[in-house]
Amino acid sequence: MSETQCIFCKIVDGQIPSTRVFEDEVCIAFNDLSPQAPTHVLLIPREHVDSLDKVERGHKDVLGHLLLTAADIARDKGFAEDGYRVVINTNSDGGQTVFHLHVHLLAGRPFVFPPG
Ligand code: 5GP
Ligand code: ZN
Repeated sequence: MSETQCIFCKIVDGQIPSTRVFEDEVCIAFNDLSPQAPTHVLLIPREHVDSLDKVERGHKDVLGHLLLTAADIARDKGFAEDGYRVVINTNSDGGQTVFHLHVHLLAGRPFVFPPG
């Protein structure tokens, strides 16, 4: 998938609308179109990266930033103490459908482990 066709790049540049819950110079966070929990937020880097499978050592700060931001959102929205689930689906067996690296932040109900 080229970056010009990538739906999450289009969300970053506003061509596709989304409900943003947070944004800064590195990432944006927005509500998932098809929520799997009462809270289902996606965090994505502004920079296009296909998947966790494609990251390099140079992405260390971006990866750290995404997780730190997920934890901030969890605290800000008040569900950190109850708990939440962070997921990065990767490639086919991982269930990845959009090939722009993203972190799922899910909360508002209990989650089972292992996931299906
Ligand atoms: P994946 O399966 O790749 O880990 O997750 C992709 C996620 O993106 C899915 O949960 C799906 O509902 C969400 N999604 C796909 N297209 C859009 C869109 O256009 N807008 C929003 N907000 N979410 C989307
Ligand atoms: Zn992209």
